[in-house]
Amino acid sequence: MIIQPKIRGFICTTSHPDGCAAHVQEQIDYVKSQGPLANGPKSVLVIGASAGYGLASRIVPAFGSGAKTLGLFFEKPGSEKRPGSAGWYNTAAFEKAATAEGLFAKSLNGDAFSHELKAQAIEIIQNEMGGKVDLVVYSLASPRRTDPDTGEVYKSVLKTTGGDYTNKTLNTDKGEVEEVTIGAATEEEIAHTIKVMGGDDWELWINALSEANVLADGVKTVAYSYIGPELTWPIYTDGTIGQAKKDVEAACARIQSKLSEDLNGSAFVSVNKALVTQASSAIPVVPLYISVLYKEMKARGTHEGCIEQMQRLFAERLYAETIEVDDQGRIRVDDWEMTEEIQTAVATAWEKVSTQTIEELTDFAGYQEEFLKLFGFGLDGVDYTADTDPAISPPSLDTL
Ligand code: NAD
Repeated sequence: MIIQPKIRGFICTTSHPDGCAAHVQEQIDYVKSQGPLANGPKSVLVIGASAGYGLASRIVPAFGSGAKTLGLFFEKPGSEKRPGSAGWYNTAAFEKAATAEGLFAKSLNGDAFSHELKAQAIEIIQNEMGGKVDLVVYSLASPRRTDPDTGEVYKSVLKTTGGDYTNKTLNTDKGEVEEVTIGAATEEEIAHTIKVMGGDDWELWINALSEANVLADGVKTVAYSYIGPELTWPIYTDGTIGQAKKDVEAACARIQSKLSEDLNGSAFVSVNKALVTQASSAIPVVPLYISVLYKEMKARGTHEGCIEQMQRLFAERLYAETIEVDDQGRIRVDDWEMTEEIQTAVATAWEKVSTQTIEELTDFAGYQEEFLKLFGFGLDGVDYTADTDPAISPPSLDTL
């Protein structure tokens, strides 16, 4: 099958197996170029492991410290007639590369919010990973969650928690700067967003793993958050998603106290940089902010992608001799994004940016390139005119 990108708003409905493999290989090569990860983890569970920050969090310990990895995600397999989702192909490439180097790599495709997936993961840890994991990464980004006990379905919304908020946004289809007004969420919508993107499920995971006695002594766990500059606060930090992230921080404190007592372990929230991922491209205002940010950070040589961010998180924070945290106990790898110099430059450009100045003031071209790469398009060395097999699977999920 010849696969071309089909973009519909903020998603691409096709993805390219060979392109996704090339994208994963780029990330593996980067990690290898950084040398071994001193004192890195050896047995890792990544929840949300097929794309974005979670995929990078799987690649770093596997290729940096030779870790066994179990990756969980919710992806669509391809068939002879239709391409699968990018995360499916990313995982196929990851598993192939990991096993070629003798590394254990297994995956589970299903609903991480369910009891079933937790039980399946525990079984694999017990039977195939030496009985324990020493790192649990929680990197889910989901629009909905089915409560595992009641069956109730919660949907998250991206709204403000105050009144209406109007700002510039980027119409990524047309390459135009437009105004968008985002309405305020109801109390119910806020509560539902917290149910989906808050810390409840992370805590359920840690409790289930701990009860099954599959967490190693000194275990670490980390979940990801974002803060960003004031111009995005109404939609992010002070919006519904920000309320969910506050809930993640509250869960972190409870998990920390449990793990430190029981296992000499620790829990962290890491605040990461704004990056183009499938999750972030759905948030109004953010893609324009990212386009301006990329321009300023690239100009100063401080731009990073998911893999560079996660390499720094592991090597210079989580597994460093002392773990540097902010005054609220959070790890910050958004530090380069949040420097005064970058934020002043972004704010100045933001005031002036319009459809006419988009090329001059933003890195929209870089944004589009990154967006296409998420789906395996635009990678060097991939022949997009050649026939490719859309029915490939991660070896551990190959049922044929
Ligand atoms: P992403 O869309 O690239 O990846 C999300 C992952 O979650 C995928 O592996 C997907 O398969 C998995 N997933 C979704 N629903 C699932 C379900 N029900 N069961 C199992 N797996 C499921 O997202 P991302 O941008 O890497 O976000 C990961 C985390 O990082 C989120 O907590 C996000 O808020 C945070 N974060 C993102 C940014 C950013 O700019 N992208 C910045 C800071 C923090």
